[in-house]
Amino acid sequence: MNILTNNLPTEELQAIDAAHHLHPFTAGNELAQKGARIVTRAEGVWLTDSDGNRLLDAMAGLWCVNIGYGRDELAEAAAAQMRQLPYYNTFFQTSHIPALSLAKRIADLAPGDLNHVFFASSGSEANDTNIRLVRQYWTLRGKPQKKVIISRVNAYHGSSMGSASLGGMAGMHAQGGMPIPDIEHIGQPHWYAEGGDMDPEAFGRMRARELEDKIAELGEENVAAFIAEPIQGAGGVIIPPASYWPEIQRICDAHEILLIADEVICGFGRTGEWFGSQTLNLKPDMMTIAKGLSSGYAPIGGSVVSDHLAEVLNQDEFTHGYTYSGHPVACAVALENLRIIEEEGLVNHVKTVAAPALKTAWESLGDHPMVGETRSIGLMAGLALSPNKAARAIFDAPVGTVGYQCREASFANGLVMRHVGDRMIISPPLVITPDEIETLVARARSALDTAYEWAKNEGLCS
Ligand SMILES: *Cc1c(COP(=O)(O)O)cnc(C)c1O
Repeated sequence: MNILTNNLPTEELQAIDAAHHLHPFTAGNELAQKGARIVTRAEGVWLTDSDGNRLLDAMAGLWCVNIGYGRDELAEAAAAQMRQLPYYNTFFQTSHIPALSLAKRIADLAPGDLNHVFFASSGSEANDTNIRLVRQYWTLRGKPQKKVIISRVNAYHGSSMGSASLGGMAGMHAQGGMPIPDIEHIGQPHWYAEGGDMDPEAFGRMRARELEDKIAELGEENVAAFIAEPIQGAGGVIIPPASYWPEIQRICDAHEILLIADEVICGFGRTGEWFGSQTLNLKPDMMTIAKGLSSGYAPIGGSVVSDHLAEVLNQDEFTHGYTYSGHPVACAVALENLRIIEEEGLVNHVKTVAAPALKTAWESLGDHPMVGETRSIGLMAGLALSPNKAARAIFDAPVGTVGYQCREASFANGLVMRHVGDRMIISPPLVITPDEIETLVARARSALDTAYEWAKNEGLCS
């Protein structure tokens, strides 16, 4: 088989990587100097790198390996499907059994009347689909001017031109002329960083009402949809105040604005229900799905739409589609993944075992001198690093300086924990056990200690 084996020394693999591989979200020269960490295998929640180090993957890859690594059933499902029908498309009035079966399976799992799926190969593609889909919907309803989609600052909806425009990441918009027209942003419900002296619930309501103000400013007749992650993931695991979502829902309902829940992270058990919309009690008209849909074993995503939208959309040809929309192998893998989540009771494991264990252990980090906030929901958790907890102060250094140190200490300590600025975040596989959660949090604490010593030496902390 034509694959590189693990027999090459790490430095050689790193040299090939540096010479030929352009990495996402990475400064190439900096990486070339340092050498990439080369991951060679994985099992359960554990990664092994090319030097034989074992790391506890508290990020489940990129928030996606919900069932954990090393499940042969998915490999078998992929191989069997490749043998029977490796590829066929779903354009031009054709279908195949994996795509139609998965569409039905998703419809059965999804809340309310979200019964129709348009397939893509990623969350970014699915959100690009959403932009076109909501505009087509309003056009068919005789309101073609209803085009603007409102999103939020510091949202993450993907990295293609459309989805990154929906996102609210300033650093991404700065490269490449984004956002594209007819996408607007309101503030995020991030009380810890932006709430000042306000009561969190009052702040949550205030941020939700920015949606109503924005609709008034743009004119309701021009606004197609509002898109949001139930809980912001890549933005730093930002759990909104309880007042936020009911107010958003009220505003969308009152103004005939479609609500798109981007469930790419929150979906498929992460929050202790099948979907984040169920945990936070929202009633979206559409959901974006990807990541946990296949636990990352194959690239697949989709837009799930309600009966009332599908009824309108089906009236005309939607001139949109991807070669790999409903790819049979990816669909077969996703079906097997969903079978495992269901039959092994993983959503309930999150709700009744893993999430409560993580909450207790994660919140125990709150006594650390450099930790200003610890919050978790389901198996997503974030904590804020601060030089002065009482004041929710930020460091006197570029944002992310201390967070990066903490992440590096964490890697050195056998734990994959990510930093978003000076917040540390985790999102482990759903199969994580209470013992592994203890290990995770002990290693996180030790990384915090190392970063704290570093920050004190730099004069960033007292
Ligand atoms: C990761 C992510 C996406 C983009 O998914 P890709 O598969 O990377 O294109 C979209 N929305 C959210 C909320 C995500 O976390």
